[in-house]
Amino acid sequence: MRKKIVAGNWKMNLTLAQGEQLINDILQAGLKLAEGQEVVVATPFPYLTKAKSLLKNYPGFFVAAQNCASEKSGAYTGEVSAEMLQSVGVDYVIIGHSERREYFQESNAVLAKKVDQALAAGIKPIFCCGEPLAIRQAETQNAFVAKQLEESLFHLTVEQLKNVVIAYEPIWAIGTGLTASAAQAQDMHAFIRSQIANKFGREAALHLTILYGGSAKPGNAAELFANPDVDGGLIGGASLVASDFAAIIQHLG
Ligand code: PEP
Repeated sequence: MRKKIVAGNWKMNLTLAQGEQLINDILQAGLKLAEGQEVVVATPFPYLTKAKSLLKNYPGFFVAAQNCASEKSGAYTGEVSAEMLQSVGVDYVIIGHSERREYFQESNAVLAKKVDQALAAGIKPIFCCGEPLAIRQAETQNAFVAKQLEESLFHLTVEQLKNVVIAYEPIWAIGTGLTASAAQAQDMHAFIRSQIANKFGREAALHLTILYGGSAKPGNAAELFANPDVDGGLIGGASLVASDFAAIIQHLG
């Protein structure tokens, strides 16, 4: 009914040759993707065209950027626009990763503009949300994530939302080795889906793909993906090891 996705976020890792090798190794793992399943590889900007050319003949395999500009074009030295990404065949773009929010001060308002740019260019945003540890400890994570969704996505139309993927990434679980339990992931994913249903309607919520991210690995992916509201994962560290990434993809079922 809705797409299941495993997306690998390489972050600022690998040379071009290492990235090429990684993609070739993933392709050689002999993965059989079922109907409605997708694999997305989010590479650094300079490798996107190469990644696209390696993956273009493999149905179900797509390329993502890790960021895009909040403006359409112009005098923004160092920025890369959504339109530029579209022009080199990029399919998805990660928007609002917690590292960008924290290290580059990306606010919910700026992220709303990036989502708009991506959608206008025909690129699907993978919109990241998730709470820091202090918020989880205070048990106010639902209100925190609800605000992120409201301020960056609630201005969209139902039609636009169809091209958005949400990734729930509790910050305390990213790159830390700590993983949300299957129950914590399911609770938050169900909450996100309910928020989307309230705003955009039940049908839109049912069709929304919601990924889990935060130290997902071959050993915990099956349990995480078995939850009814978890539609796959956004994978950091484990996406840099072909055998681990392939094993995680196989847990999509
Ligand atoms: C991420 O960066 O999106 C992520 C989930 O990282 P890791 O899997 O390494 O925790």
